[in-house]
Amino acid sequence: MNMEKTAEVYSEIAKVIAAHESFIIMSHVRPDGDAIGSQLALGFSLKAMGKTVYLVNEDGVPESLEFMKGSEVVTQPPSEPVDADVAIAVDTATKPRLGENSLVAAGKAKVWINIDHHISNPCYGDVNLIDGTKPATGQILYELIKALEMPIPEETRDAIYVAVSTDTGSFQYGSTTAETYEMGADLIRQGLDVGKINADTYDNHPYRRLELMRALLNTLDISADGQLAHWELLHQTQVDLKLQPDDSEGLIDLIRGVRGVRVAVFFEELDGGKIRVSMRSKDKGVNVCEVALQFGGGGHALAAGIRMPGPMVEAKAKVLAALGESMAGGN
Ligand code: 5GP
Ligand code: MN
Repeated sequence: MNMEKTAEVYSEIAKVIAAHESFIIMSHVRPDGDAIGSQLALGFSLKAMGKTVYLVNEDGVPESLEFMKGSEVVTQPPSEPVDADVAIAVDTATKPRLGENSLVAAGKAKVWINIDHHISNPCYGDVNLIDGTKPATGQILYELIKALEMPIPEETRDAIYVAVSTDTGSFQYGSTTAETYEMGADLIRQGLDVGKINADTYDNHPYRRLELMRALLNTLDISADGQLAHWELLHQTQVDLKLQPDDSEGLIDLIRGVRGVRVAVFFEELDGGKIRVSMRSKDKGVNVCEVALQFGGGGHALAAGIRMPGPMVEAKAKVLAALGESMAGGN
């Protein structure tokens, strides 16, 4: 989005905020740090303006993010629509990824705002602030909140940091920009405790996560040329180890980190038999979002995902074949 277009969308959002009192803010199912962080960041800023804000997530706040200030106000959707005039979706590439119950909860909204950094987002809002060049939705929100001179209470400050830190692999990925670091500096000047927030985010795992790692390592497989590595998690293993959905968050980075690997894939069998596929590319020549789109998924060029029918062996065969083709073509 160019600067003029961004300024135009900012002013549309400012008008919607000024003209309404009640908001429901949602994000995608199986929320990550950028999803919950973006909800909290915008939610607490609007609350500080005196607005009524409902923070709803289909799956609630994962245990690993419960440390976030204010996260207790994010609830699973009630069965009835809430009294909110404006629905805001953050970090969510497609409307159905908000979840069926969240969509019911937002049923009374007259205006939809869609704020996201997924290039595959089809702009399903009445107002759409979509910027695929930003490393996290949290950074889009930081820039919006600054531009509109909205308040930045502690919850918003910390949530922005967690959102951007988790979506950039701790400010490491190529999507990280000078603006990202400038934002970090600004948040620290505003009182953010870097040591504590990073310890809470990254050094606070349940023991079962290591047991999960051990189980995954037992399924590790790599193509003959050493470029395509993958592992799988069966539903039975999740039951045996009493896993929570977010226990596997970020583990795919272990196989992506192997020298020579261009693409890493994580196959997970969900309750009910569907397969969740998580893909990471280390090679700009291999766009995993394009592969995801072939199977109804989406995401970013270097990090994308799919929910597809099982059984595991078939899903694996199809996705690995498509990836093999994409890697051979170098497209
Ligand atoms: P992850 O592998 O961490 O679950 O997701 C990587 C990226 O792909 C995220 O940006 C996420 O939003 C996107 N993504 C993951 N799963 C799906 C999916 O089933 N559908 C779509 N459209 N995007 C997905
Ligand atoms: Mn994100």
